[in-house]
Amino acid sequence: MKRTKVEQQPTTYACLPYVSGVTDKLKKTLSKNNIGVRFRTVKKIQQVLPSNKDQVPRLLTKGVYELKCTCGKSYIGQTGRSIQCRIKEHQRHTSLGNTDKSAIAEHVHTNENHKIDYENIRVLDKTTRYYPRIIRESVEIMKNNNNFNGEDGYRLSNTWRLAKSRTSDLECHGKVSRLSATTAF
Ligand SMILES: [Zn+2]
Repeated sequence: MKRTKVEQQPTTYACLPYVSGVTDKLKKTLSKNNIGVRFRTVKKIQQVLPSNKDQVPRLLTKGVYELKCTCGKSYIGQTGRSIQCRIKEHQRHTSLGNTDKSAIAEHVHTNENHKIDYENIRVLDKTTRYYPRIIRESVEIMKNNNNFNGEDGYRLSNTWRLAKSRTSDLECHGKVSRLSATTAF
């Protein structure tokens, strides 16, 4: 009597990447145990990793930024946290009138009817490392004569800040305390 071959349906499936010479053997072993195999193409690393350019929203980066006031002057700042976070801090200090904690708050409160355009924040650089960021900020401030960075009297020269961060000069301690109140890294 001729024996009819009954095809057994796999009870489950395994989805495996196809690797020549390996997956075939694995398929044989798995099918003996009623496990079917489906192949999938192996994605390239590039396809798996999100593209920084597309995924990271513009303001969720460390870096150097520029805000414009209705008077035409700019404020250039840098942060080691996200730019968005730092901007929110400026807004909070402005609404609370903390003029000693933000050059923007100081500018808006001492100049009647001046408003900061928070809708058009320019990201000048996404430099994440500390020294390149400080240097880039200094360069941008020097390039832009029409800024109000120096108006508040609290922000010290960036060159000084750079020197400060490289040394632990105790004589500067008093100034450092004032500085830390106005610059958040
Ligand atoms: Zn202004």
